[in-house]
Formats: sequence, C-alpha cells, structure tokens
Amino acid sequence: MFDYLIVGAGFAGSVLAERLAAGSNMRVLIVDRRPHIGGNAYDHYNEAGILVHRYGPHIFHTNSKEVFDYLSRFTMWRPYEHRVQASVDGQLVPMPINLDTINALYNTNMSSHEMAQFIASLAEPREPVRTSEDVVVSKVGRELYEKFFKNYTRKQWDLDPSELDASVTARVPIRTNRDNRYFTDTYQAMPLHGYTRMFENMLDHPNIKIMLNTDYREVIGLVPFREMIYTGPVDEFFDYVYGKLPYRSLEFRHETHDTPTFQPAPVVNYPNEHSYTRITEFKYLTGQNHPKTSIVYEHPRAEGDPYYPVPRPENQELYKQYKALADSTPNVHFVGRLATYRYYNMDQVTAQALTLYARMKGMRRSEAADVGATPTLLTTIPATIVRAPEPRDLAGETTATTRAKRK
Ligand SMILES: Cc1cc2nc3c(=O)[nH]c(=O)nc-3n(C[C@H](O)[C@H](O)[C@H](O)COP(=O)(O)OP(=O)(O)OC[C@H]3O[C@@H](n4cnc5c(N)ncnc54)[C@H](O)[C@@H]3O)c2cc1C
Repeated sequence: MFDYLIVGAGFAGSVLAERLAAGSNMRVLIVDRRPHIGGNAYDHYNEAGILVHRYGPHIFHTNSKEVFDYLSRFTMWRPYEHRVQASVDGQLVPMPINLDTINALYNTNMSSHEMAQFIASLAEPREPVRTSEDVVVSKVGRELYEKFFKNYTRKQWDLDPSELDASVTARVPIRTNRDNRYFTDTYQAMPLHGYTRMFENMLDHPNIKIMLNTDYREVIGLVPFREMIYTGPVDEFFDYVYGKLPYRSLEFRHETHDTPTFQPAPVVNYPNEHSYTRITEFKYLTGQNHPKTSIVYEHPRAEGDPYYPVPRPENQELYKQYKALADSTPNVHFVGRLATYRYYNMDQVTAQALTLYARMKGMRRSEAADVGATPTLLTTIPATIVRAPEPRDLAGETTATTRAKRK
C-alpha cells in the first residue's frame, strides 16, 4: 500500500515525492510515461558526450532564497548569468533591449539619458492596454515592436500580438544601461552536474519507488494507494469532457557540430528570418569543455507535446471549468504547469509544490522545506573556481562516472 501515487516525475512531482518521503515518512510511488525522470527539465549526455537539454534550454533563476536553499540540498551549482542576442537588421544585438542594442541598431553613441528620451519619443501611449501589441507599442513604439517582437510572437504563437493577452508580454524589460543579462534574479545558476543528476538525488530515498514508461492509468486498480498527486494535463485527467485546452508546441532539432563554438552567445533569437525562433548552444549553459559543440533549434508547432498554454481569455474560461472539477475531486491534488494550465518557471513550480505540501500537512509554508531535511551538504561553487579554465574534461569524467553508476 502506497500513501501517495504521484503522476509525473518533473519538478512538481519530484519535490512532492521528496517532501512526503523524507519530510513525512510516507510511502510514495512516482510514475512517468516518459522513459526518464526530470520532466521537461531532463538533460543527458548525447552521443558526442555533450550535456544537452532534450526539451529546450532550461536556465535556473529565482528570487526565492527558500527555493534555492531547498534545491541546493540536491545539487551543487555553477553560477551562470544567461545572455541572449537577437538577429536584427543583419547584426546580432543584445536582448533585452539595452543601451548597446540601441546604439548598435541606430549607429549612435547615445548616453543612458539620451536613450531614455529617444525611447520616450518612439513610444505610442495606448489606453486601455489590452493586447500584447498594446503593451510593446506603448512602451517602445512601432519600429522596435516590429524589429523585435511582432514576427517573433507570430512565429511562437501563430497569432498576431494584437490577438494575444497583454499578459504574454506584460513586462517589456528595456534597460537604459548596459546590463546585458537576460534575467536579474538574485539567484542565477545551473545545477553543476545537470538537472537529471539533481532529480536522481531528490528521488534517492527508500520510501520512493519510481516507474518509468508508465501511464498512471496502467497502474490504477493494480497498485493500492491512499491519495494521488497529479501533475499531468488537467483536461486529459477528465477525458476532455469540456474539450481540449489549447497548447502551443515545439519541435526541437538537435545538432552536434565539429567545432568548439557555433555562435557568439548562449542563445540567438531570430525574430524575423527562418522558421525557427532561436538557437541554443549548450556548452555556454553547462560550462563543459569539449572539442565539439551541440545546439538546438526550436520550431514552433501547433501539434505535439503541450508546452505553452495559449493565453487567451476563452482558454482561461475553459480552464476554470476543469479547475472546478479538479477542486471537487476528492483525494487528488492537482499541481504543476500542466495540471493548472499555466506557464510556470521551474522555481515557481518548486514553490507551488512546497506550498501544496505545507497545506496537505497543515504546516506553515516556511516550515515545508525543512522538516525531515538532510542538512545542506552541497553549496554553490565559487564563481572564480568554476569560470577558470577547466583542468580536465568534465564531459568525459561525468559521462564515465554516470555510466559506471548505472551499470
Ligand atoms: C522550451 C521550454 C523552455 C523552458 N525554459 C525554462 C527556463 O529556462 N527556466 C525555467 O525556470 N523554466 C523553463 N521552462 C519551464 C519548465 O519546463 C517548467 O517550469 C517545469 O518543467 C514544470 O515542471 P512540472 O513538473 O510542472 O511539469 P513537467 O516537467 O512537464 O512534468 C510533468 C510530467 O508528467 C508526466 N505525465 C503527464 N501525464 C502523465 C500520465 N498520464 N502518466 C504518467 N506521467 C504523466 C510527463 O511525462 C512529465 O514528465 C521551460 C519550458 C519550456 C517548454
């Protein structure tokens, strides 16, 4: 008899499995229909021995000390501040738009103050701000909107920004300084040995059993359990009684090139040319030394795995119907990005899972991560050590160690 059947071994399911097992001494069965743990954050060494993210680049960033401290029990970190360039007007410029972006595009040498005035002169205030187009045009004007946002959004969503909720681009970070970091969160780091290793450490508990390649419906009726935690698609759980919740999908095209570096930045966005939206080069993210390099192209698709809920008011209305069903289903807890039909970052899903655990156990949220915790053994590697040239081939060693462990 298991206390909990957890459906999905991504962030939501794995955090809850770890908390219930280590924090409450519960017996947990976690099932995933994919052949691996980690959900969309799954990473692995490809045939060339390069660490890649199967489902697109996953960059960890958070302002939550609690979330960062909690995950730090299961991984060491590599300090990493993400940087993105956009291919616009035949050149690569920093994204989000900053002083260097504007000076490069307009071949000027503006100061911060001059840039602020310039952007203000371009902005076209709109009232009310309802759509994504309104958000961007009212902040930076039509010209920059068309260069950076319009076509990227059309590719990504197959919708014009004028048809998308303001929430999709609710904040357009425009910097009048030269800060070219993509994120500004307090904690920005990548798991030193990858996400999958971190998940292995989370789920490494005698009370946790894992079944992969298994849809939860295959075990219902065979394996007794008291309660379920469901992190899959909420509409699928209820057999699509109200219809399908719309998602946008992606096709990932992975390539390995026989050259140490493919592009000058971790991610290059292509707002206007090509059918893909961006290319990611993984070695920037992982810090791996390797004579070859692996990249991934992202091609937006209408069909395929559900990745991005389509943020339109009618879809929220449809979700509300499913939520009402979910709320009235006893002994099943719905958590995570698919079960709550919302785009969440990894830290937000971790926080959501810790909150659910606190609620289930009648604890204060601040206690949820602590009870039954093993002390934090693992800490951040100081940036100076990690950023120095690697004395050894991290890929070779890690791959060999991983293989040896799995044998
Ligand atoms: C392209 C892309 C890039 C992203 N980049 C970032 C980033 O840079 N930073 C960031 O913080 N976040 C990023 N995210 C978001 C991140 O992927 C999510 O926050 C995280 O994966 C959510 O975890 P989850 O557990 O809710 O869902 P998932 O990781 O999707 O896990 C759910 C699991 O449930 C399983 N499942 C579903 N139905 C069943 C069933 N019937 N039976 C058994 N198993 C089932 C699935 O196979 C899946 O493994 C990105 C997302 C995408 C799509």
